[in-house]
Amino acid sequence: MQERTLVLIKPEGVQRHLVGKIISRFEDAGLKIVGMKQVWVDKEFAKKHYTEDIAERRGEKVREQLLNYIIEGPVIAIALEGVNAIENVRKIVGGTEPKSAPPGTIRGDFAHVSFAYADAKNIPVKNIIHASSDEKDAKHEIKLWFNEKELHSYKTIQDFFM
Ligand code: ADP
Ligand code: MG
Repeated sequence: MQERTLVLIKPEGVQRHLVGKIISRFEDAGLKIVGMKQVWVDKEFAKKHYTEDIAERRGEKVREQLLNYIIEGPVIAIALEGVNAIENVRKIVGGTEPKSAPPGTIRGDFAHVSFAYADAKNIPVKNIIHASSDEKDAKHEIKLWFNEKELHSYKTIQDFFM
C-alpha cells in the first residue's frame, strides 16, 4: 500500500511564492518527502514528462502549450511517499480545472480559471501543480526527475503513528 508519487510545483506556483504553503499541505496530511529539488528543464526534457499520451487525451495543441509552460521558469520537483500516496495526493491537489476544483484543494484554493478561459486565451490551464495520475505514471515520472541518490528512505514521526 505504500506508494511514491511525483509532484511538480509549476513555474507560476514558484513565481507566486506558494511553495511553502503547498508543501505544508502534503506534510500536514502525513505524506513523507523522499526527494525534493528545484529544476529548470528544457523542452527536450519536458517532452519526456508530457509524453504523447497527453496529446492523445487532450490534443496536440494542449501538449505544445504545456511544453512551453513548464519551461517558463524553475519548478519544484517533489517525490512523496505514503499509503495510497498517488490517489491521496491527487485528492489534495484537486481536479484539473481550477474553476471546478473544490475549496480546500490546492487548485481550488490558489487558482480559479476555467478550461474555456484557457482555450480563449490559447494558453494552458494554469493550475499551480502537477501530480502523477496512476502507478505507471508515478514510476515513470519519479525515475525521470530523480536519480537513485536523490531519493531517501528514512523514518519520520509519521511512521510512529501509522
Ligand atoms: P492533470 O494535471 O489534472 O493530471 P492532465 O494530465 O489531463 O491533467 O493535463 C495536464 C495539464 O494540461 C493540466 O494540468 C493542465 O495544466 C493542462 N490542460 C489540460 N487540459 C487542458 C485544456 N483543455 N486546455 C488547456 N490546458 C489544459
Ligand atoms: Mg495528468
